[in-house]
Amino acid sequence: MSRFYEIEPTLENYWRAIILFGRNTASYKFALAKALFDLHSMGKSNFSLEELAEPYSRYLCEHLKSHPKQSTRDKSTFLNYLRSFNSGDINHDQVIGQTVRHGFNYVLDAFHNVHGAEIGTRFFVDTRKSGGGIELTREFDRLGEQFQFKNLKQETEARWRLVETAWENNISRNLMLVEYDNQNQNLIGVNSIRRTTVTSARPALNGYQKGRCFYCYQEISTIIGSDALADVDHFFPHMLKSCDTNKPIDGVVNLVLACQECNRGVDGKFDKLPSTTLLERLYDRNEYLITSHHPLRETLIAQTGNTATKRQNYLQEAYNCATLFVGSRKKWEPKPQGAAIF
Ligand SMILES: [Zn+2]
Repeated sequence: MSRFYEIEPTLENYWRAIILFGRNTASYKFALAKALFDLHSMGKSNFSLEELAEPYSRYLCEHLKSHPKQSTRDKSTFLNYLRSFNSGDINHDQVIGQTVRHGFNYVLDAFHNVHGAEIGTRFFVDTRKSGGGIELTREFDRLGEQFQFKNLKQETEARWRLVETAWENNISRNLMLVEYDNQNQNLIGVNSIRRTTVTSARPALNGYQKGRCFYCYQEISTIIGSDALADVDHFFPHMLKSCDTNKPIDGVVNLVLACQECNRGVDGKFDKLPSTTLLERLYDRNEYLITSHHPLRETLIAQTGNTATKRQNYLQEAYNCATLFVGSRKKWEPKPQGAAIF
């Protein structure tokens, strides 16, 4: 059950590599990404560390309020200054000063690094040694022109929330599983003690489908109000519950983003069972999710098996059972609307 597919070396996929697949030890990359978005939207392409420190520290301070653990290390001088600012012990100028001094030690150098190697493009350059500042590159501008750009902003925040929630759960050694809440369309974290809303589902899943409909590869949006707003779809429809009540219908394993046409248009999927070609694609998408660290990876492994073979069997069993309930009805598959890129 393996396929080869073309990896699209697009700017948004480089960006997603940074945000989705980095092995984070602190949330600084996310804060930096969000700060760059802000400065770019203000029309700034060359700025000092002081200018960058303002949105950068602001985002970190905001996140610290709801999630005190923003780093896997126990002690951080920088984070302590941000906490002091949150508690009113130092003022705005002081927190900016300390951010310039302590806040960028690694993150500027490490930003483009994923799994120990520089990715194939740069979104900013550090020209401070030659008297400049931080400069957004032409590639960042071009990223800003892409349809997916607005989605990327949301994806960055969604990823940040998933990561910080996972860190928090690691402290209490509670296994947290991520589930879908149909009513609010959010992902929630469930452990033995409580259920908490983590992030909205669309931006958390979009990057792993490269911003395309899972079924037909049409470009989709995660922005509420957009015509191309994706539906959150259950690959196995709810009939699977008749097979085995333990199957996580609302688990990440079964959740994909679909264009409205595929989900509920003419000849749409509705509660039909997708073809085995699409089942293979679901397997690939899930394995892709597993290469991204906590907490989606842990959820998939806990629910569907700790080896690729077990996870494949899991899907096959679910498919066999669901087939019994739909009988000889033809399996569903839409016409492709774009190249097969995942
Ligand atoms: Zn579609």
